[in-house]
Amino acid sequence: MTSIEQIIQKFKNNNPSEDTKDILRAYHFALKAHRGQKRKSGEDYIYHCLGTAETLVELKLDKETIIAALLHDILDDTEATKNQLKREFGEEVFNLVQGVCKIGKIKYRGQERMTENLRKLFLAMAKDIRVILIKLADRLHNMKTLDALPEEKQKRIALETLEIYAPLAYRLGIGELKGQLEDVAFSYVYPTEYNEIVKQVENKYVKWENHLKEIIPSVRKVLAKKGIKVIEIHSRTKHYYSLYKKLLKYDMNWHKIYDLVALRIIVPDIESCYATLGIIHKEWRPLIGRIKDYIAITKPNGYQSLHTTIFCHKGRIIEFQIRTPKMHEEAEYGIAAHWYYSENKNLKEYIREKILKQKSKRKPEEELKKELTWVKQLQEWQKEKFSSPQEFIDSLKIDFLKDRIFVFTPNGDVIDLPEGATPIDFAYQIHSDIGDQCVGVKINGKLSPISEQLQNGQLIEIMTQKNKKPNRDWLKFVKTSQAKSRIKSWYRKN
Ligand code: MN
Repeated sequence: MTSIEQIIQKFKNNNPSEDTKDILRAYHFALKAHRGQKRKSGEDYIYHCLGTAETLVELKLDKETIIAALLHDILDDTEATKNQLKREFGEEVFNLVQGVCKIGKIKYRGQERMTENLRKLFLAMAKDIRVILIKLADRLHNMKTLDALPEEKQKRIALETLEIYAPLAYRLGIGELKGQLEDVAFSYVYPTEYNEIVKQVENKYVKWENHLKEIIPSVRKVLAKKGIKVIEIHSRTKHYYSLYKKLLKYDMNWHKIYDLVALRIIVPDIESCYATLGIIHKEWRPLIGRIKDYIAITKPNGYQSLHTTIFCHKGRIIEFQIRTPKMHEEAEYGIAAHWYYSENKNLKEYIREKILKQKSKRKPEEELKKELTWVKQLQEWQKEKFSSPQEFIDSLKIDFLKDRIFVFTPNGDVIDLPEGATPIDFAYQIHSDIGDQCVGVKINGKLSPISEQLQNGQLIEIMTQKNKKPNRDWLKFVKTSQAKSRIKSWYRKN
């Protein structure tokens, strides 16, 4: 169990020049306010506050967020008042705590209640994204202590974590948090499968470790010879749940999984990324169809890297992920990384440059705005009318929380859509007139049915005809709520 001293130490490592006495003060405040309260697990309540704060320190969040995390259940569960909180810790912390409190404890009183809570969640998100980060960290700690709850409740909470919270973390680009949420939830939702996967991975990983001991030095040697500066090489194991999903896709055939262990190579800049890819391909043979350039074409959640899978020593197949330090930080911490960059005074070179250029300390906000487009879309979208809470949740899962694919317009613009989307969804995404007047589609230059499910990376060309009407039958196969509501509204109007 983490102590407040450990949390403060970790915070200091990330922010050497910050004063931490307020964090300690917040801890004592929470300790006193929650005195005598126990969690269902029998633990003192304060451990929940510490657990929540710990996750956020690991995401390198700022001081206010850490303080608010320690205090996040104060207004709900204790005698402490709003004024007291404001007086002791200031407006910013107060707003964060109140934000978390307003979202409310999701009490699982049926669909209606949950929908309402989700709406509140998105509203809060648009105001200050840190509120959601606290909420996600809160959820992670609740998941870690889930075994204290009755079994039926465990399953429901775990399933909700898999379907809503983990995808939310993914969309915010926080790969690490998403992986952790999924893996704990996985163990409750599919316990048999979970145990089987853990066992198999442990076996395989022992073999991999020896293999990595050979391969990492030879990669270093090859790159050094060509004058590439390597900042870091490390291996990462795939999270259990994402492994399980991939196995399902390949009929549980482990031989089809090439990235159980992947090697990450961190190099200083984008040029070095491409140079590294070239050198590796010259040294070892790459697998066809497994070279992915997420630098030129960023994933919809902001992820960037080059991926390639090669035949290495002794016929072993291994995936390489090549990226810059900035791409790495953003892949791990996503939207959270922006606070680190904007607050931290010991910035790495590339950040220092960026900030100097913009003259003001807080300026990476511009970049943040770009990332928040998705949050804004979500906010707009949730104002739409849904006929039932179930419909709201279903649309949420498809429009925002499903895995995304990206496809291209003839001009090379990237459009991102939920998995399973069709050319009609694509057309409505471009413009409502294009959707209404769609008469056909070329996918990669070939005439195709307009109900066909689009695949990642395809080039989509919509053919339109003036005065053409949308077809009611389209409602049977379109996926996005945008397409659905446009088609319906056309018929309402005409
Ligand atoms: Mn809590």
